[in-house]
Amino acid sequence: AFDPSSLRAFGNVAAGHDGVLSDESGIIIAKPCTEAEIQFYQSVQAEHPDLAPHLPTFMGTLQVSSDQTAVSGNVESGMIQTANGLERLHGRRLETEQHIVLENITYGFKKPNILDLKLGAQLWDEHAEPEKRAKLDEISAATTSGSLGFRIAGMRTFKGAQAPKVDEDLKEFVDKVDQSGYWVLNKMYGRKFSAANVPEGFLAYILPQSESKAELERAKEVLTYFLGEVKDIQKAFESKESRMYSASILLVYEGDLEEYAKTKEILTAGTDVEEPPKLAAVKMIDFAHATWHPGKGPDENSIRGMRSTVKILEDLLKKVDEDT
Ligand code: ADP
Ligand code: MN
Repeated sequence: AFDPSSLRAFGNVAAGHDGVLSDESGIIIAKPCTEAEIQFYQSVQAEHPDLAPHLPTFMGTLQVSSDQTAVSGNVESGMIQTANGLERLHGRRLETEQHIVLENITYGFKKPNILDLKLGAQLWDEHAEPEKRAKLDEISAATTSGSLGFRIAGMRTFKGAQAPKVDEDLKEFVDKVDQSGYWVLNKMYGRKFSAANVPEGFLAYILPQSESKAELERAKEVLTYFLGEVKDIQKAFESKESRMYSASILLVYEGDLEEYAKTKEILTAGTDVEEPPKLAAVKMIDFAHATWHPGKGPDENSIRGMRSTVKILEDLLKKVDEDT
């Protein structure tokens, strides 16, 4: 069960603001959010159930105090969880911040390799101030956001038990090489690509290690899965009248080659395990600026980014197929 007192910083993020939390089990994440994001998840549940499989499961909301020692919300209604145990919220004033509680997409992976693709050439909604619009338009025009309708917003890849030293030309983009064998590429990494060379970023994501036979086989399977999912997401949103600014497609696959092989065996054999490990996952996330606009037609701004992603995944799959 979910224990709000066990919330702590969530390490497996690819991009975005600080402040994402996870519980001890790692099944859920709790993220600071806007009212619009909660409303979007609720409306998907109530009115667009066909989209639900493409989003992390929405589990509720939480008020988290700034020092994270006190928590309340519809998970522990009327009560706050403090260092001293459960206390009545009644009569207490708390500086709290609204959080959304979601299924953790990286749960079930031993070494999740994560790619965050930020959608849209227009990255702001109508609430944004002129300065913010101008700044985001400038970034869009200088990156594949403008040319392709999406850009790489962040990436984490498992480089093997001992991550190799970072190449000189990547140094400015690698925020950290942690002991767990990861390279964590910052938001500037994805901004350096043009429409012509952005497939290189995808290649770095899908072949992070030695291009061994096992790695190429995995890449082929994972790309096939990604392609199917992104096409399904595109189709689903083509039938909707949403407007999503700066939403992301989050791609995840198992980065540990041995674990990947083991998981494949378990899934192929159909072994009945309670919490089956995962090979790959694709979900839409980040609906801080997402709303519905009946009568306005599909959200071309983000769908264009989905189409570009499909095209790149198709080309890469062909290339990897030739190499195996
Ligand atoms: P923002 O960009 O506004 O900070 P996001 O919703 O994009 O917020 O979340 C930031 C990062 O947190 C994402 O890039 C992703 O790596 C991670 N993340 C967000 N939601 C989930 C989730 N449900 N499961 C796993 N990781 C998530
Ligand atoms: Mn984001």
